[in-house]
Amino acid sequence: MKKLALLPFAALLGVATLSNASDELARERLLGSAFLDNQSYHLLEEMTNLYGGRITGSESNEKSMQMLEQALDAHGIANHREAFTFPGWERREDRATLLHPLKRELRSIAMGYVDQHASFAAELIYLGKGSEQEIPANSQGKIGLLAANVKLSQDSIQSLATENGIVGLLLTNRKNGGQLLARTANYSGDASPIPIYSVTEEEGHWLKRLVESGEKPRVQLATTSIVKEIESYNLVATLPGKTSKKIVIGAHFDSWDLGQGALDNGLGIAQAYDITRLIHKINPENHFTIETVWFNAEEFGLFGSYAYMEQHQDDEIVAMINMDMVGNPLGANAMGFVSLMPVLKEFSQGMGGLSLPKPVVNAPWLGSDHMPFIVQGIPSITLNAPIDPDAVAFYHDFGDTFEKVDEEVLAKSIGILSLLTFQLANDPSLDGLRLNREKTIELLQNARLELRMKRYNIWPFEDEPKAP
Ligand SMILES: [Zn+2]
Repeated sequence: MKKLALLPFAALLGVATLSNASDELARERLLGSAFLDNQSYHLLEEMTNLYGGRITGSESNEKSMQMLEQALDAHGIANHREAFTFPGWERREDRATLLHPLKRELRSIAMGYVDQHASFAAELIYLGKGSEQEIPANSQGKIGLLAANVKLSQDSIQSLATENGIVGLLLTNRKNGGQLLARTANYSGDASPIPIYSVTEEEGHWLKRLVESGEKPRVQLATTSIVKEIESYNLVATLPGKTSKKIVIGAHFDSWDLGQGALDNGLGIAQAYDITRLIHKINPENHFTIETVWFNAEEFGLFGSYAYMEQHQDDEIVAMINMDMVGNPLGANAMGFVSLMPVLKEFSQGMGGLSLPKPVVNAPWLGSDHMPFIVQGIPSITLNAPIDPDAVAFYHDFGDTFEKVDEEVLAKSIGILSLLTFQLANDPSLDGLRLNREKTIELLQNARLELRMKRYNIWPFEDEPKAP
């Protein structure tokens, strides 16, 4: 039961006086409209039904973006595309075949950045999590089978190849039910040094048992998928404020190709659309400009959001909200920006019956479109907002499909995120919270992210020049 009684009545009065009457009306209309005038659920349904997954560079991605543009146009919301090119990858035909002790086509796909290669066959060995101790002595010229949930950096894949002579890798999926995990082999856009294929959890376990029984299974690999430069677009919609200084709300538009990308990140596409549309509809006179950006090529390594930051390096961006797989909002994350904590605390407590139950945290994480903003010192926000575990288990897999989207949770998240966007857009005190280079490095070091970023080649700061 909710312990409403713990909140002193005076605090409620305090909250009510924070904003003026027209702000209060705007907030009520935003929240009400999120439930009574939700249009994104059906937009997402149509988009995912007609075009499926939106892997960057594909026709599905292009058609889906056109659908979103038409929806924005229909509401008179100014929007435009911003082009960028990046080292991309296109899936064609991937094939992994068990040759011995029986012939069987394995259910498999190549990982992103595995480049086309001629068919070859080799004995399969088991590598566990791929650590030094787990690699059998005689691995030269063999294909390695990895356990579930292994994430290898490009460097460790490279050393498996050069130091141990391993010629290919099979990665066991973390989720059962014949699912296949699509993901990129690295975040730098380089061709993978050796081919890596994802296999199902069940066939991965089967292959492991064959290795352990001493059968010396043999596997053949071949793919026509290719690494190639791709031109793509971010879609940008703008709601002008009194100043050109802006709040960016972002969500990645692309997905993997196996399922429909309904949760990852159809949710974000839908949320960004309805938040923008509802604020446009009630048309408040915002202090800051609100810029909504649907980033492409996130799944390949955040290429769209890095391109956006590069194209907008002279813009005055005061804060950013990133929405990547946002489900039911329980709390906010200040992502290392201490100055955001009071702002987010005030927000969390200021929503009456919808107050966020979890405390505001300050724990930056890697791997989504807030990163290019954080490394520029721009205060960034993400949400602690879980998706039903039975549904989220399928992300990047065949099972990321529309029926897993919960309409009520979507409406609630849009209501809360609209209020957050509205609050940020009308809080002039946010201006000037951007960190300089030194403080930004400190933030990342305090969060113990430096080593991991260096390992994945995404640490953007040159080493300090050494004293002579
Ligand atoms: Zn995502």
